[in-house]
Amino acid sequence: MAQPTHDVVIVGGGPAGMSAALVLGRSRRKVLLIDAGTPRNAVTLHSHGFLTRDGITPKEFRDISIQQLTKYESVSIEQDSVIRIDTEENLYTIHTQSGLSYIGKKVIIATGMKDHLPSIPGLQEVYGKSVFPCPYCDGWEHRDEPLAVFGQGEKVVDFTKLIANWSRDLLVFTNGPMNLSVSDLKELNTHNIGVIDGHIKGILSTNGVLESVILEDGEVFKRSAGFIMNVDATQSSTIPEMLGVPYNHHGGYETDPHGLTCVPGLYVIGDATHAFSGLAGAAGEGYEVGVSINHKLVKEEWNMPG
Ligand SMILES: Cc1cc2nc3c(=O)[nH]c(=O)nc-3n(C[C@H](O)[C@H](O)[C@H](O)COP(=O)(O)OP(=O)(O)OC[C@H]3O[C@@H](n4cnc5c(N)ncnc54)[C@H](O)[C@@H]3O)c2cc1C
Repeated sequence: MAQPTHDVVIVGGGPAGMSAALVLGRSRRKVLLIDAGTPRNAVTLHSHGFLTRDGITPKEFRDISIQQLTKYESVSIEQDSVIRIDTEENLYTIHTQSGLSYIGKKVIIATGMKDHLPSIPGLQEVYGKSVFPCPYCDGWEHRDEPLAVFGQGEKVVDFTKLIANWSRDLLVFTNGPMNLSVSDLKELNTHNIGVIDGHIKGILSTNGVLESVILEDGEVFKRSAGFIMNVDATQSSTIPEMLGVPYNHHGGYETDPHGLTCVPGLYVIGDATHAFSGLAGAAGEGYEVGVSINHKLVKEEWNMPG
């Protein structure tokens, strides 16, 4: 097999992949980061909860990250999409959409997840702008507002209790059968939370700001923002699956606590393993796996000639 072109090839340039690139670059590793440029949070206007960067736009976060990485000459970044990885003799050949191939000693998959929204007319327009999946990310901005909670089944009860931490003015929209027990329904009603089980005709908004939820029977409920429970998230990349990595119970790829999969030398970090790491969590995982890989490479190289 040919000689490695890089110590580490990182697939995916969100906070997980870029953070791994930073610590590996600082460890004098030859790193290639390949990114398709479609981060999960691209739909949102502002990101919250990352210390020193609270309220930053996703673009600004990415621009600053790239700018800081360019200082490290052993780190290169390519805009491309990885379509296949072959493994032979503990080396990995990474093939991209544009027909290029690279050989890495270790590979980090940080490709994140993709969200698939339920087919409610108007939902796409408000998703990430005034209807969100995560209250820790966007709850504070909508505290005490009249909020919609979208979801059904027993899990929506716990989700609604969580959202009630930010606002008590809640209406739960189940968009069809609520699938709630009598006691769950009573519990929500006791806290003045109504459950609306009519089918949703559409969501009305202006510039992404939710105004009302309209039912098929014509009833209109004014709400200014909302949280959605059942966003169906799937892997952005099936490459780890193709290499034999099993899924965990979050729908992420199974790894050990340091991001290592069952395939030696192949790591998965960020949303691709935890389903929803958040920016700070993903960056933390990137840092940790970068340190872990550098330790491994140091050990492997210590007794090598030259
Ligand atoms: C609407 C919304 C709002 C959010 N708001 C917040 C918030 O305010 N605060 C917060 O902490 N978190 C927020 N999150 C969560 C946060 O965006 C994710 O947890 C975080 O981005 C995960 O980072 P990651 O690096 O694992 O994946 P991502 O950021 O999704 O990055 C993955 C990267 O991999 C690339 N990629 C995928 N496949 C390939 C391939 N085959 N080849 C090359 N590249 C590939 C993609 O193009 C992408 O750039 C939000 C999420 C959503 C959906």
